[in-house]
Amino acid sequence: MEATLCPKPHFVVIPWPATSHMIPIVDIACLLAAHGAPVTVITTPASAQLVQGRVERAGQASSAGITVTAIPFPAVEAGLPDGCERLDHTPSFDLVPNFFDATMRFGDAVLQHCRVLTATRRPSCIIAGMCNTWAHGLARELGAPCFIFHGFCAFALLCCEYLNTHKPHEAVASLDELFDVPVLPPFEFKFARRQLPLQFLPSCSIPEGRLRELREFEMAVDGIVVNSFEELEHGSAARLAAVTGKAVFAVGPVSLCGAPGLVDSRACSDDARRCMAWLDAKKANSVLYVSFGSAGRMPPEQLMQLGLALVSCPWPVIWVIKGADSLPDDVHEWLQHNTNDDGLPESQCLAVRGWAPQVAILEHPGVGGFLTHCGWGSTLESVAAGVPMATWPFTAEQFLNEKLIVDVLRIGVSVGVTKPTEGVLTGDKNGAGRAKADVGMEQVKKALDMLMDGGEDGEARRTKAEALKAKAKAALEHGGSSFMNLEKLIQFAG
Ligand code: UDP
Repeated sequence: MEATLCPKPHFVVIPWPATSHMIPIVDIACLLAAHGAPVTVITTPASAQLVQGRVERAGQASSAGITVTAIPFPAVEAGLPDGCERLDHTPSFDLVPNFFDATMRFGDAVLQHCRVLTATRRPSCIIAGMCNTWAHGLARELGAPCFIFHGFCAFALLCCEYLNTHKPHEAVASLDELFDVPVLPPFEFKFARRQLPLQFLPSCSIPEGRLRELREFEMAVDGIVVNSFEELEHGSAARLAAVTGKAVFAVGPVSLCGAPGLVDSRACSDDARRCMAWLDAKKANSVLYVSFGSAGRMPPEQLMQLGLALVSCPWPVIWVIKGADSLPDDVHEWLQHNTNDDGLPESQCLAVRGWAPQVAILEHPGVGGFLTHCGWGSTLESVAAGVPMATWPFTAEQFLNEKLIVDVLRIGVSVGVTKPTEGVLTGDKNGAGRAKADVGMEQVKKALDMLMDGGEDGEARRTKAEALKAKAKAALEHGGSSFMNLEKLIQFAG
């Protein structure tokens, strides 16, 4: 008698609408589809192309199983400019509450859609971005389990859980006083309150009620999906499962799930091709890649100190600069004279002012080091490519990630930044009272020297990074830890 094959559960994946969040969660959707589970990704019209591009990048095996559904995003109704459908497209900080408001209304529209979807293809499981707090109610109405995807690593989530439970940051006298976060013995971690994610700061820009909702959502969900792999974080995922009582599935690194190279539609621009051609002419491990995530920008004086360090270092540099249009005229001119964006082989400091093809850059054999803001997406992409890092955390959970990179994994050199870097979103271009830089050129140079030319220690970091690259690849292969966790996730949902 023929065995009846059970159909795999239908996952509905609802990204939190912010660029760096959408990238990994859509890649997770692709991995689920590659494992044979049907997936619907719910997004908005302005983000549909980004989602579709990721799906195509993942290849035929995934794209055949994925439906991308765009539901109108009520930007104008919430007081946002028309087409503002991602958090990082919000034109000013003042409009962030409006953005949250729009996402709540969007949740109502998603619910309506899922009710209709149930008639033809019942959702078996919801995976929602961490601020889509309404997704839990939606899952309960559909009788489906609900998983959360934060975009954080398991170690950072473990630290946050400790902070939420024990509140050591509330017992210190100042923002700079160090306290212990003993989550992964025998390692010892000390942080100052100002280095913690926003929700742990005394003057948090997110309203109290919204913070409570976020916490209630993460406590209510059935499980946690993490873009990481078990061999990387010294048991953090298992500890997180133990302290939260939830199933934790590490299924990454998702940057390895697609075809390598320039297949992401945005990465196929002329700028991106120039960048890759420039890299092709460089010696192995000789290039320093500098980037601070999808939106990270520095105040002008700080950018100048970084720039002076970069143009005086002996290695060819690719420097991704966000927000270059809003820089003061003198900084702008300095950049014009000291960097190139033409990609000529002789240019020493190649500036990329748009979207850089980061995964392809990191995977290029010419790249020998990455100066990063320690966003988890960038960190894991660097690990997956075997590239050691110099760490310059800006904000959010990035100071936590820095400890993992430098102290636990020993594949990074800290620049020694102690305070969050204030970005400049809008405002007075030639700024009266421009703030002094916290981090001087010499401090940056010292860390870069250690990263790129660090003698025995540098070699040891490179060897460790190479070993982790091999483990990352193995985790996603048939029978590897992330492969098996994807299977378990599918079983859990079925
Ligand atoms: N990224 C990119 N090109 C850029 C800037 C960023 O491809 O010019 C991608 C990067 O590969 C990563 C994500 O954007 O996947 C940034 O995520 P991360 O968590 O590092 O930082 P965030 O943007 O959240 O601060």
